[in-house]
Amino acid sequence: MTGFYSSGPISIDIPRSTLARLRSVPTLASRYEGIVAIDSPEDLIHAPIMVKDDLTAAVEYLRPKAHRGATWTFQSGGSTGVPKLGYAPTGLYMDEVYQQWKPLGPNDVFANCWGAGKMWGAHYLVNAYADLTGCTGISLGAMDRSEYDTWLEFALNRQVTSIGGTPSVLRPLFGYARDNGVKLPDLRSVLFLGEAWNPGLEADVPAVAPHAQRWGLYGSTETWVAGTNTPNCAADTWHLIPSQLVHIGEDQLIDFTSLKPHGLNPLLRYQTGDAGEWVSCTCGEPGRALRILGRRDENTMFRGILFNTDQFVDEVLGEPGVMQAQTVITTHEARGETCEVLVVPTNDAPADLTDRIHKRILSSAYGHTTAFHRDPTCLTVSTVEALIANPRTGKTSNLVRRQAA
Ligand SMILES: [Zn+2]
Repeated sequence: MTGFYSSGPISIDIPRSTLARLRSVPTLASRYEGIVAIDSPEDLIHAPIMVKDDLTAAVEYLRPKAHRGATWTFQSGGSTGVPKLGYAPTGLYMDEVYQQWKPLGPNDVFANCWGAGKMWGAHYLVNAYADLTGCTGISLGAMDRSEYDTWLEFALNRQVTSIGGTPSVLRPLFGYARDNGVKLPDLRSVLFLGEAWNPGLEADVPAVAPHAQRWGLYGSTETWVAGTNTPNCAADTWHLIPSQLVHIGEDQLIDFTSLKPHGLNPLLRYQTGDAGEWVSCTCGEPGRALRILGRRDENTMFRGILFNTDQFVDEVLGEPGVMQAQTVITTHEARGETCEVLVVPTNDAPADLTDRIHKRILSSAYGHTTAFHRDPTCLTVSTVEALIANPRTGKTSNLVRRQAA
């Protein structure tokens, strides 16, 4: 399956007007001058790929304004440096998502556990969705370990039926609840957005909340919600919403073109860095579904060897007793790079867990272990209570890079 795909009717006028907007940006004009006409979606193949810096330049110049209501700006990607901005009108385009995705209804009591503030969009996005459902909402925000008992008890007493958050916030919460025998019998749904689903939740959620099912949203601050899934779909497979025109190009990288009638971010073949493939979804819904294969920028160099942090962390997660794992690569001026594996153990983890992980890594077939064999002192494994999280979003990435002090 190839070409530019949308799950709804395609109004070619919208990408055409986006092209005109991009051409009006002095620093981008020359990139777009060669495109003669866009008469069909397939003509977009002649448009250049857009990446984050292009979009930043475009919105800096265009300063988009909503056609009605407030214009909201959110931080778009990256946890350091000057925030790059994404724009959206009041409602954050959630009407369209609500048409297609209905985990919540008027009888639900929904706890929003996405971190709020610091210009991160997820918390507000899901509240905009909750508005449309008529549910009872609880804006909790992300919580830390010391608050789990209080809020779990609150959730039980308030008969919370739905909890949503990033998987790296949900995993330790449900892991803690499971380890401490907490039950949430009223919980019917667990909503996720912002990261891939964490397979560890497949065991923790049923142990805590036997009636709860997972429901996901997929997207970014640039595209806003791009796809939805239900408990009947694979966790990495998404049904696109109709205002997304999607193409899979070289190296399976996905690009998004906005078909939103009043869209603020001028997206024309915008590449997020995610790779994907077209599939038929197991839920039986006809049409194409988009399976996400992960990011193509998870490759990094470690001591001159290409190192895939996703594969590496997956391998560590395969060791029984590991709840969460993260790679910290530190550059030391004198001794070069070192790799520290941080592991949050499960309650029933074996006492020699770090030794087991060390052994597992060294016996792995992946090429990057060559560096550890050359210099065994450059690899350490430590257990921690919590991984290093982005303080703004609560997300924990597989790789943290640091410069030694
Ligand atoms: Zn499906």
